[in-house]
Amino acid sequence: MTDPLLVPCAQCAGLNRIPAERLQDRPRCGRCKGEVLPAHPFALEQSAFSAQLKGDLPLLVDVWASWCGPCRAFAPTFEQAAARLQGRCRLAKLDSEANPQLATRLGIRSIPSLLLFRNGVEIGRQSGALPLPQLLAWLAQQGIAA
Ligand SMILES: [Zn+2]
Repeated sequence: MTDPLLVPCAQCAGLNRIPAERLQDRPRCGRCKGEVLPAHPFALEQSAFSAQLKGDLPLLVDVWASWCGPCRAFAPTFEQAAARLQGRCRLAKLDSEANPQLATRLGIRSIPSLLLFRNGVEIGRQSGALPLPQLLAWLAQQGIAA
């Protein structure tokens, strides 16, 4: 038995303790009863950003905007990545128009941008969309295996 992992809920950002062997079992949030680790990207709001940075799983953020064609074209790839990485990496989408202060704070100059955080620290950044195999390979280089 390993120590449970701390994982913020995708819906309410409440911290949950989840045994490692249960990460793939669609755990429910102790606070809101929603799915802690959905197989789809969740919407990241700037008000919840610091809470969503917590915990033991890495967080991959897709910074996008609805008017951005390349962002829309990348969305299905990001969806597929979320399904492949469920329980290993959390995937979130940050709408840069709805959350301009956070986008500025993160130094976003172009979209789509992919930002990877671990233990609250940015450990990787990728400007522009990637095909799924390259996205998974980039994450594997950071120690996150699909
Ligand atoms: Zn919750």
